[in-house]
Amino acid sequence: MNKPVKSTCCYCGVGCGLLIETEGGQIVGVRGDPDHPANAGRLCTKGASLHLTARPDYRLLYPELRRQRHLPRQRVGWDEALTHAAERFAEIIAAHGPDSVAFYISGQLLTEDYYVFNKLAKGLIGTNNVDTNSRLCMSSAVAGYKQTLGADAPPCCYEDIALTDCLLIAGANPAVAHPIVFRRIEDARAANPDLRIIVIDPRRSETAEIADLHLPLKPGTDIALYMGLLHVLLAEKLVDRDYIAAHTEGFAALEESVAAYPPAVVAEICALAEAEIVQAARWFGKAAAALSLYCQGLNQSAHGTHNNAALIHLHLATGQIGRPGAGPFSLTGQPNAMGGREVGGLANLLSAHRDLANPEHRAEVARLWGVPSVPAQPGKAAVELFAALKRGEIKAVWIACTNPAQSLPDQNEVRAALQAADFVVLQEAYGNTDTAAYADLMLPATTWGEKEGTVTNSERCITHLTPAVARPGEARPDWEIVVDFARRLGARLEHPLTGQLFPYSGPEAIFNEHRESTRGRDLDITGISYALLDEAGPQQWPLPEGASSGRRRLYTDGVFPTPGGRARFVKLEHRPTAEATDAAHPIALLSGRLRDQWHGMSRTGTVARLFNLDDEPLLSLHPADLRQRDLASGDLVRVANPRGDVHVRVKADAGLVRGRAWLPMHWGSQFMNSAGVNALTLSTCDPFSQQPELKHAAVAVDKADLPWQLVILRKTGAGELAALRLLARARQLLPDFTFATVGLYGRDQPLVVFRAAHTEALPENRLLEIDALFGLGAEHAAIVYADQRRQISKRAVAPDGKLIGVRLAGETQAQSWLKEVMADEANDGDSGLDPALIRWAVAPIGRRPGKLPQRSRTVCNCADVSEAQIIADVGAGATLALLQEKRKCGTFCGSCLPQLRQIIASQAETAASAQPA
Ligand code: SF4
Repeated sequence: MNKPVKSTCCYCGVGCGLLIETEGGQIVGVRGDPDHPANAGRLCTKGASLHLTARPDYRLLYPELRRQRHLPRQRVGWDEALTHAAERFAEIIAAHGPDSVAFYISGQLLTEDYYVFNKLAKGLIGTNNVDTNSRLCMSSAVAGYKQTLGADAPPCCYEDIALTDCLLIAGANPAVAHPIVFRRIEDARAANPDLRIIVIDPRRSETAEIADLHLPLKPGTDIALYMGLLHVLLAEKLVDRDYIAAHTEGFAALEESVAAYPPAVVAEICALAEAEIVQAARWFGKAAAALSLYCQGLNQSAHGTHNNAALIHLHLATGQIGRPGAGPFSLTGQPNAMGGREVGGLANLLSAHRDLANPEHRAEVARLWGVPSVPAQPGKAAVELFAALKRGEIKAVWIACTNPAQSLPDQNEVRAALQAADFVVLQEAYGNTDTAAYADLMLPATTWGEKEGTVTNSERCITHLTPAVARPGEARPDWEIVVDFARRLGARLEHPLTGQLFPYSGPEAIFNEHRESTRGRDLDITGISYALLDEAGPQQWPLPEGASSGRRRLYTDGVFPTPGGRARFVKLEHRPTAEATDAAHPIALLSGRLRDQWHGMSRTGTVARLFNLDDEPLLSLHPADLRQRDLASGDLVRVANPRGDVHVRVKADAGLVRGRAWLPMHWGSQFMNSAGVNALTLSTCDPFSQQPELKHAAVAVDKADLPWQLVILRKTGAGELAALRLLARARQLLPDFTFATVGLYGRDQPLVVFRAAHTEALPENRLLEIDALFGLGAEHAAIVYADQRRQISKRAVAPDGKLIGVRLAGETQAQSWLKEVMADEANDGDSGLDPALIRWAVAPIGRRPGKLPQRSRTVCNCADVSEAQIIADVGAGATLALLQEKRKCGTFCGSCLPQLRQIIASQAETAASAQPA
C-alpha cells in the first residue's frame, strides 16, 4: 500500500477531508482525514464508499463524436474532437454573435476549472452565457447574503455549532444531506443539555427527530414565519436596538412591515400553532448565541432570496452575528459551489465577488485579464439558458460535469431544448447520464482522485487536492480541456490575445491568477498558495498577504462590505408558492434528498450498498391521504400535473401533514422510466437569484391501474462490475413499461433489482427474452411455476442449489423476502437456500413453510456491516480493533461504536457461560 494521498470528499459542501489509499495504481480505500478541520476523520456513508466508485471500467475514456444527429457517436482523437468543437463554435459565433453560444458548468468542478471556463466565455468569446448548476442550489443564498450583508460570504464556521445555545435549522435536513454537520449537532446536543434546537421544515424530516420544536410550516410561507418571529422579538423587546443603530440600516421600514405579521396571522398563513411561533422566537431572542443553518428549503423557491433575507434579519435585529456560536450559516449543497462563486462562475457575476452590473468591476476584471472589456449584458441563467436553446437564440451549449437532462425543472422543456440545439458538447467523467443521449461530442474528463486544484467548502475553507492515481484512458483534467479548446477557438476567431489569455501549464498558474484577482476584495486570498495549503493544511478565507491565518468568523467588528459599512434590512413581504394546489392538483409535492444517494446517482448509483436503505424512489404521503385514495404502502400511483407524470410506489409517512407528499430527487431516466421528480417541477424562478422553485409543485396523486407486475432479482457473482454491466443492459427495458425501476442491492455480491408494472401481461415469449437478457434463460435448469389463466409465470434459477436469480411475473409477493435472503451473504455458502423455500417463493402465495430465514440487521450503516457478520468475526476471536481493521465498522461516523461494544461484550458473556464450571 502506498502512502495515502490527502483529498476531500466530492459530494456535499461539508467538504470532509479524506485519505485516499492506493495500490498498484488503483484507489483501493478511503479513510477520513483526522487532520482536516471539516470532519476530523469522520465520513458519512457516501464519503466512506467513494473508493468503490473509482473504477475505470464504466468511465468515459475516449472522446466520442457524431457528425450527424441520426448517427451514433464514434471514438475520435483529442485533436479531431477539439478542432471540430472549435470549428463549430467559431462558425456559430461568426454567424450569430457571441451570445449564440453558452457554457453550463458545475459546482463539482475545481476552482481552477471554473476560472478558465469563466475567462473563456467572458474574456475570449465575449459572452456572459456561462452559468452553473449552482444556480439550482445556492444562488438564492448568494443573493440573500448580498442584499443584507453586502457580500456572498457565510459569516460562520463549523465550530459555531458547538458554541450555540439556540440552533435554528431551516429548510435543511443535515441528518441525511450534510451528515457530518449533523454529527456535530448530535455532539453539541450531548455536550449541552440546555441547547434548544428548532427545525423549520414542511415535513417531519430525519433532522426534525432531534428537535425540541419542529415547525411544519406550509410550503412557501417562510417569509411570513420569519416576519412573525421578528414581530414577537419586537413585542417582547428581544431585539438589540444598540446593534441595529450602530451596524445596520433600513430597520424602520422593515419594522413597519412587520406590524402586519402578528403571531395569530402568521399561524394562519403558515398553518402552525401560534404558541409554537412565540416559543421559537423566545428561544432565539433569549439565546446567548443563536445560530441558523439553512439550505435548499429556503433557496429552491420562487422567493428564495427573500426567504434568506428574512432569516438573516433575525440575526441582524438581535445582534446574533459576528460572535462565536451566532450567525446565519448557509450549508452549501455541492462540494465546490463556493469556489465557483469566488471566481464569478455565474452569468451575472465576475471574478472575486465582483458584479457584472458594476462598470468599475467590469473594468477591473478586463484589466486583470488584459482584455479591452468584458461584456456588460448579463448572461442567461440556467433555466433561461435552456429556454433560449429551445427558442434557437443559443445554438451551441458546452456542458461540463453536470446533468441538466435530469436536474433542471420541467424536463420535457429541457430535453426539447437539448434536442433542438445545433451542437451539444458534454465534458464528463461518466457516460451514464441522461444528458449523454443529447451530446454530439463527449469529452472524457478526470474526476475525484485524479485531479489537482482547490475546493472551498461551506465554511470558506480552501483545500488543495492532488491526484492519487493516474488519469484513466484518454481522460484529461477539466482545466486542460478548456485551455486547449480556448487556444484553438481563439486561433479560429483570430483573437489577438489568445496566447496571452491562456498561458497556463498547470492548475497552480491558474490559482495564482485567480488569487491576484481577489486582492483587496472581501475574499482576499493573496496570503494563500499551494505550498501553504500543503504545509499548513486547509485555510479559510479571507487570508490576505501578510496575515498569519484565515478568519474564522466574519463581521466580528460589526462592519459589513456595503458602501456605508452597515448591514441592510430589506423590505419584503409574504408570497405563496409559485404554483397553488387546487381541486385538480390537490397535493403539494416536496422534493428532497436521501442519505445514501447523491444528485443524479451517476456515481452513487454504481455502489450496491448505497441502495440498501432506499432501493427505489417512494412517494411519501400521510396515511389519511393514502386511505382517501384507497392506497396502502407499496401500491403504485401516478403523480401528475400538466408538465408531466411519474409512476412510483407509495409509502405511509405520518410525519407529513395531510395534503403534502415527498419524493426523493435522485432518480432519473437511468434508474426509472421517467425523468423523475423534475418531470413535475416548474421553471418559475426567484427574480433576484434566478433560482427555480425545485422544492414544490402542485400534483394529482391517483392509484395506478397496473395490475400486472414483474420483479427480477439477479445475483451476478463477486464484485459490482458484472452487476453494473447487467444493470446497463436492463436499462433498455425501462421504456417498455408504465412503471419501471432498476437498481442494485446488497454488499460484496450485489443483486440487480428490476421492478415493473403494466396494464397487461407480457406474452411468455417476451418473458423468455427478458430471462435471457438477465442470464436466467434456457441454459439453466430452473424451478418454474406457470398459471396461464391468472397470467402468472415464475422462474427461479439455482445451479448447484445456489439461488442466482428469480423472475416473478403476475404475482410478486415474495419479492421482499427473496431480495433480503439473496442479498445476505450468509445464505451464499454451499448449503444455499432450502429448495423447498425456493419452490415456495415461486409458487402461488399460500401458507408460509415455517420460519423463514431473515437478513441479519445492519449495525454499521456507514460500512454496511451486519450483526451476523460481527457475531461470526467475534466468534472467531475478533476484537473491536480487528473488526475495525477488517470490516471498517465503527471507523466512520462512530455512531455504531456503543452497539459494537455491546455485541462483543454479549458474545464474550455467551462464550464464558458456555465454558464448563
Ligand atoms: Fe462527503 Fe458525507 Fe462529508 Fe458530505 S458529509 S463531504 S457527503 S463525507
